[in-house]
Amino acid sequence: MPQKRLFVIYAGGTIGMQSTPQGYAPVPGYLPAELQRIATRTPGFPAYTLREYAPLIDSSNLQPAHWNQMAADIAANYAAYDGFVVIHGTDTLAYTASALSFMLENLGKPVIVTGSMVPLCEHPNDAEQNLVDAFHWATEDGLHEVCVAFNRQLLRGNRSRKLWGAEIGAFGSPNYPILGRVQGHYEFNPALCLPKSTKPFKAHSINADLAITGLKLYPGFAARLIEQIMNSDDAPVGVVLETYGAGNAPDADTALISALTHASQRGSVLLNVTQCVSGKASSDYAAGSILARAGLVSGLDITPEAAIAKLYFVLSQPHEVLEPADLLATSLRGEMSAS
Ligand code: ASP
Repeated sequence: MPQKRLFVIYAGGTIGMQSTPQGYAPVPGYLPAELQRIATRTPGFPAYTLREYAPLIDSSNLQPAHWNQMAADIAANYAAYDGFVVIHGTDTLAYTASALSFMLENLGKPVIVTGSMVPLCEHPNDAEQNLVDAFHWATEDGLHEVCVAFNRQLLRGNRSRKLWGAEIGAFGSPNYPILGRVQGHYEFNPALCLPKSTKPFKAHSINADLAITGLKLYPGFAARLIEQIMNSDDAPVGVVLETYGAGNAPDADTALISALTHASQRGSVLLNVTQCVSGKASSDYAAGSILARAGLVSGLDITPEAAIAKLYFVLSQPHEVLEPADLLATSLRGEMSAS
C-alpha cells in the first residue's frame, strides 16, 4: 500500500512554545524541526507537508477568521492528501474543532486536531505522544470527521471540551462516548463515528464579522442586560444562552422572559444550552418550556463551544432550504443527540 500523505496546519499553542522573558510564546520553526526528529525516530510515521501559520498564536488570540483560513487550506489540499492534522493551542481548540466540523461538509478523510499541555521543549511532555497519535489517527481509513486526539483518546471534535485546565487529560467528551483510545494499540469504534458521506466534499466559509454572543444565566441576571445588548448598534444576530440544569430559566422573572421574547421576535436567533458540564436543555420543566415559547431553540446536549461555532456557521449560510432555527434544531455533524 502506498504511504499515506498528510497535510498539517500548525497554528500555534503551548505545544511549540518556548520560554521567553514575557512567558511562554510560540517560536517559529521550532515545532517543525522537532516534528521532523519525531518522524525519524517513530516507525511508520506518515509523510506530511506542514504549513506553519504566521504569526503563530496563543490560541486565546484565535478569531473566527482563522477558521476560514484553516478550512480554505484544507479544501485547497483536500484532493492531494489522505488526512489532515491541525496543531493548535488547547484554550480554544474545542471551538476550532467544532467550527471545522461544520465548515467541512461531507468529509471523506480524517481531520485531527491536537495540542498539548506541556511544550515539546520540556521533559516529560504530552506533546510528542499527542502528535504521534494525531498523525496515526489522520491515516485511519474509517474516520471521516473532525476529531480531537489528546491524552491517548480520540474524541469527536464538536463534542470535545477543555474541562480540566491543569491536567494532562484536559479534554473530555461529556455528552458522547469517546471514539477511540490507545491501549497498547490504536482502537476506535466505527459504530460511534460518522458514516462516510456519499456526497462530494464541500468547504464552507463563515462570516467572521457576525455579531454572535454567549450569555450565562446566574441569579440576578437582569432583563435590562438583554435589552441593552439588543438595543445596541451591533445587536447580536445569534445568542447562546447558557441556562440552568435541564435548560431552565427564571420563569417568575416576566421582564427577563419578555426581553428574550422581544429579542427573538426582532430576528435574533437564541440557542438554549445547559451550563452543566453534561446533560441537555429540554422542556421538561415549566421553567424550561417557557424559553421555547419565548422563541429560543433548544440546543439539546450540544456543548457551549459547538453552539457558538454552529451559530457562526448556520447564520453565515444562505437560508435557501432551511431556516436557521431548523438547522440549529437538527444535528448537522453529530454535535447533538436526537431529542
Ligand atoms: N494558551 C495556550 C494556547 O491555547 C494553552 C495551550 O496551548 O495549552 O495556545
